[in-house]
Amino acid sequence: MTADRIFTNARFGDGTSHTIAVSGGRITAITAAADRPAASETVDLGGRLVVSGFVEGHIHLDTSFYGDVWRPHKPCTNGFDVHERVAFQARNLAEAAPMDVRARNQLDLCIGHGTTRMRSHVMVDGTVGLKSLETILKVREEYKGRIDIQLVAFPQNGILRSQGTPQLLDEAIGLGADLVGGLDPASFDRDVEKHLDVVFGVAGKHGADVDIHLHDPGTLGAFEIEQIAARTRALGMEGHVAVSHAYSLGDLAPDALKKIADVLARSGVAIMTNAPGSRPFPPVAALRQAGVTVFSGNDNIRDSWWPYGDGDMLNRANMIGYRSGFYTDEELSTAFDMVTEAGAKALRLEGYGLRVGAKADFVTLNAAHVPEAVAGPPPGRCVYKEGALIARDGEVLWR
Ligand SMILES: [Zn+2]
Repeated sequence: MTADRIFTNARFGDGTSHTIAVSGGRITAITAAADRPAASETVDLGGRLVVSGFVEGHIHLDTSFYGDVWRPHKPCTNGFDVHERVAFQARNLAEAAPMDVRARNQLDLCIGHGTTRMRSHVMVDGTVGLKSLETILKVREEYKGRIDIQLVAFPQNGILRSQGTPQLLDEAIGLGADLVGGLDPASFDRDVEKHLDVVFGVAGKHGADVDIHLHDPGTLGAFEIEQIAARTRALGMEGHVAVSHAYSLGDLAPDALKKIADVLARSGVAIMTNAPGSRPFPPVAALRQAGVTVFSGNDNIRDSWWPYGDGDMLNRANMIGYRSGFYTDEELSTAFDMVTEAGAKALRLEGYGLRVGAKADFVTLNAAHVPEAVAGPPPGRCVYKEGALIARDGEVLWR
């Protein structure tokens, strides 16, 4: 069979050179360099390192100001307070550029760096109803073939405190959201059981997965994680649930951490961390050693929560490694796994990876191998989606 396109001189992380054949947007063969399948078109990758497209596991397409005017960060008046930050966000968003414009800015930024799959949370609650979701669903449609996007219906203002939110979450999944979100069941809604009743109730009704924002620290957060894990097991949802941030895991003593890591592994609950700057965060190596799927995302980019973010998952792997004290090649590769294969596992992505049968989503890098790319993320990348070049040197090619 003649392939649509072959990519020659593709260097893999182990230093070996290959030819990648692609037909219908999927990898149909990976052969030794000398063995070239017949093809309609040949692209010479010039011996550059080829890695899987990055998985952005946690972002907010509706609330970023990237590409809009700079919004100076406003600190909380009396220490970090989610309620106060949500109020700041509402004021900022009222003055921002249209949501679809901001979402496109952010998507182009992420794709330019090599992200080909993404999970975005989108606000669904009594304050915005389904409006944000409707906008982001249209943008997702527009970006078909450029990036695959999962959407989480995210109750930014709580579920019990925000009028009508349980019903809205249900409607959101009907409208096209893929997952049900949650937010600090204890500190925000002050009722863990009722909050989780809604989240898992809606998820169960629609067969949707769950991804819950959990900032609650220490033993309170750990208790909530145990409740989430217990429900996951009771409903047979192992592998379908993620907890984002899970700061509490960074606060626990080694014995307590070991116990909860075993519970997470047994329950198939994945943990998302973006290695936030100023506080303890989940200990990546210990969790992975216990068998927990730990993945990553940029989370907020230039929004009302913090001013940082460049949309680059390779840079995110670098930050994870830096903050985790990762130095060996194996450790650096662990950080990379969190933005590729582990992300794909947590998001249950179909057809992911540099393997026959997978979508031909890959990135070329100016680096000798993966550890070097993580240690100092290189510029000058080419991004291929389903075998087509869609971005070069950080710029998408359809603008
Ligand atoms: Zn978030």
